[in-house]
Amino acid sequence: MLDRAEDEIVGHTAMEITHADERSETENVVANFRIGSQQEYHVEKRYLKKDGSPVWLNVTTTSVPATETSEPFLQAIYINISDRKRAEAALRASEERWRAMFETAPVGITVLDTERRAYLAANAAFQRITGYTGDELRQLTALDVTHEDDRAAAQKRLDTGTIGGQQKRYRRKDGGAIWADVSTFAVPAADNTPAFLGAVIVDITDRKRAEDALRRSEAYLNRVFETMPDGVAIIGRDYRYERVNPVYEDRTGLSCEQIVGMHIADINGVEAFNEVIKPQLDRCFAGEHVSYARWSTRFAPGERYHSITYAPLFVSESRRPDAVLAITRDLTEFMQASEALQQAQADLARLNRVMLLDEMAASIAHEVNQPIAAVITNASAGLRWLGAPQPDLDEMRQTLGRIVRDGTRAGEVIGRIRALVKKMPPRRDLLDINEAIGEVVALTETEMQRTGVKLQSRLTHNLPLVSADRVQLQQIMINLIVNAIEAMAGASNGSRELNIVSGIDDGNDVFVEVQDTGPGLDPEKLDRLFQSFYTTKPEGIGMGLAISRSIAEAHGGRLSAARNQPHGAVFRLTLPVEEARLPNPF
Ligand code: ADP
Repeated sequence: MLDRAEDEIVGHTAMEITHADERSETENVVANFRIGSQQEYHVEKRYLKKDGSPVWLNVTTTSVPATETSEPFLQAIYINISDRKRAEAALRASEERWRAMFETAPVGITVLDTERRAYLAANAAFQRITGYTGDELRQLTALDVTHEDDRAAAQKRLDTGTIGGQQKRYRRKDGGAIWADVSTFAVPAADNTPAFLGAVIVDITDRKRAEDALRRSEAYLNRVFETMPDGVAIIGRDYRYERVNPVYEDRTGLSCEQIVGMHIADINGVEAFNEVIKPQLDRCFAGEHVSYARWSTRFAPGERYHSITYAPLFVSESRRPDAVLAITRDLTEFMQASEALQQAQADLARLNRVMLLDEMAASIAHEVNQPIAAVITNASAGLRWLGAPQPDLDEMRQTLGRIVRDGTRAGEVIGRIRALVKKMPPRRDLLDINEAIGEVVALTETEMQRTGVKLQSRLTHNLPLVSADRVQLQQIMINLIVNAIEAMAGASNGSRELNIVSGIDDGNDVFVEVQDTGPGLDPEKLDRLFQSFYTTKPEGIGMGLAISRSIAEAHGGRLSAARNQPHGAVFRLTLPVEEARLPNPF
């Protein structure tokens, strides 16, 4: 046992071969041992081998009393228990390891008595999850800490002995609710019956909250997608619909399920796809945001006007868009309304023009009458000469020439009037403003003469051309001239002078001014002049200046009024030289 020879033991004290840790206790025992007292003493202690290593021995020491032949002595019996001691130490170490693992595990671990449903053990993580201490938990059952809404289900699981994974809620000591992922398993008892229920509990409250938020936001997104009044589609790189909202059902008469997977050309036609849609989509697939608008006859009912935007969608890590989000807004009604508005404006302008022409009808009739009367006079003279015995051919040639000249003049007058009244869409001509002024002056000249207005033109030559609708511009000028004539006709005294000036201003814009010597303008009412239906005339309508200003603005220009010096009014029409931009509703 001790690897010692007899002489290495005999003659030595017990203390010498006892492990250092055990010596004091051994000394104690030896001191209290009364030899011959028939006491017996059991101890498990370590001795030292010859090489100094310890050996566990079970020692039974007996005091043998004296006999007639012998002195009393101590007798000891040794059993080597090193192996058992080693096994015990290993078991203890292993148990400690398991306990440490149980206590420090980051997930909750519990052991439940299946009969009483009480906690036999609950580790620190589970105590953190529920907010109870280990001692408190040992007083509670699994149902006590289960959330009231999940208690019935938990009870059922315990009743039926169901084991496995589930998600459930706990009610914390502080009242808070916790979501947990719980896996239960049977822990076999010593006799192999599943006497205990083990559980591993993972707190998933945060994950659950995030999942709920994600689910909610997904639900919202879906709802938005489904209820958007605009058509919303997701289009793949193969130009096929990956998803469409119910607006597409109304537009196409097909169900969303039918449309998904279809090619854009299947719905919009091959021509529209190749010529319009694909080029725009390709820009978007290259990463651009695209928006455009188009009329299409493919959608029910009838021709529809759509404003379309494409936004690139990235779902993978790829730097190329994986799909395109297409949003199409039906603007047909808006377009129809705005066209109707434009039409109404045009009609009103024409109406106004017709009324102005009506006022000038007399002077126009006069202008046309003159050449016709001259034609008749000349023709009668010609007839008379033809009746003479010796017709003067030279005289005849001159008379016929005069007839042709007067007839042409009448024709020109009529042509100009027709151009004014005819319902023509606005045109954009590059025109010389001075020429337009000349034509307007020719139309209003007779009226000026009749009312005693003296006209002076100061036109700047070689002005840059402006891009404008000739008839509309002339309408503005006629309005201004007629207003000036009317204003001066009202004034009884003073000279009646009308100045028409053209030129180029500091901002490089071409301008036309109509200046008069009438009563002038009230500075406080300058802006009201341009409001619709503002008039100071008994027969007035008050639309002339309003329409004139809207025409000027549609050409990118301005129409303003000011006082003339020393008296009278000045109206100034300004037009940009570069090509005017038409207002765009988008
Ligand atoms: P209307 O000719 O039907 O009155 P307009 O829009 O042409 O409508 O003009 C509105 C008003 O502006 C006129 O009624 C008049 O009071 C004023 N106005 C326009 N031109 C002149 C002018 N040259 N001098 C003075 N007042 C003017």
